[in-house]
Amino acid sequence: MPNDPMPPAIVLSRLSARFADQKRNVLALKDISLSIPAGSFVSVIGPSGAGKSTLMRVILGLMRFESGTIVRNFSRPAMVFQNYALFPWLTALDNVAFGLRMHGVSRQERARIALEKLREVGLESLARHYPAALSGGQRQRVGLARALAISPDLLIMDEPFSNLDTITSEALKADLLKIWRSYGMTVLMVNHLIPDAVELSDRVILMGAHPGHVAKTIEIGLPRPRDPRSPQFFRQVDSLTDLIRTIS
Ligand code: ADP
Ligand code: MG
Repeated sequence: MPNDPMPPAIVLSRLSARFADQKRNVLALKDISLSIPAGSFVSVIGPSGAGKSTLMRVILGLMRFESGTIVRNFSRPAMVFQNYALFPWLTALDNVAFGLRMHGVSRQERARIALEKLREVGLESLARHYPAALSGGQRQRVGLARALAISPDLLIMDEPFSNLDTITSEALKADLLKIWRSYGMTVLMVNHLIPDAVELSDRVILMGAHPGHVAKTIEIGLPRPRDPRSPQFFRQVDSLTDLIRTIS
């Protein structure tokens, strides 16, 4: 049907997941139900141990779940990690090109795409540098370029700003919004800063711990581009902060 809205990129229904071995048995996610609209920007916030990273791994199929269902309407997922996870023995360019090997892309084409992606994140001039010669913000940009190399339809980011200073993360946020728009992809981001979640997201999923669960889902209706200095913005941050207090 031509006028059908796009199906959600991800739907979880009463999903539970557990870490179990001889020593430990931890119910990390309990009865998680959520829906991520295709093309939306969704943030997941919550205290440490709430299962945010576990949720990302389950969505990507990197971890088994115990019960419930998951519907995945995406075909090219990519992930950006908090600690960059770059290969220290490869240049920025080769780090970005690396993931394309698995996709059967020729060497020449890999280098071309990698350079293009480094340009998109503003790092073209540092293509031949090794990670050790890059700042934290630059490494995170290489990680982002590497994720973008496969032209993802879903980008998952686990606390991408947590190792960055404020000025560096402000610049990266602005670029991330541009990239999100130009790729038309779904972005799912674990975050721990409420103002960042309000600035970036269409929707915020608030998780609680012991066991990890969805406490509340909040729609952020502020028009874009958003001004973090506007009264409406402050009000939204305040109400989200109040909500978190009532939950934890
Ligand atoms: P968050 O990312 O929100 O801080 P995690 O998803 O990392 O939370 O962890 C959720 C729960 O699962 C925590 O209780 C944590 O101790 C537990 N957990 C995470 N990873 C493992 C693991 N590899 N083995 C056992 N327990 C784990
Ligand atoms: Mg985590």
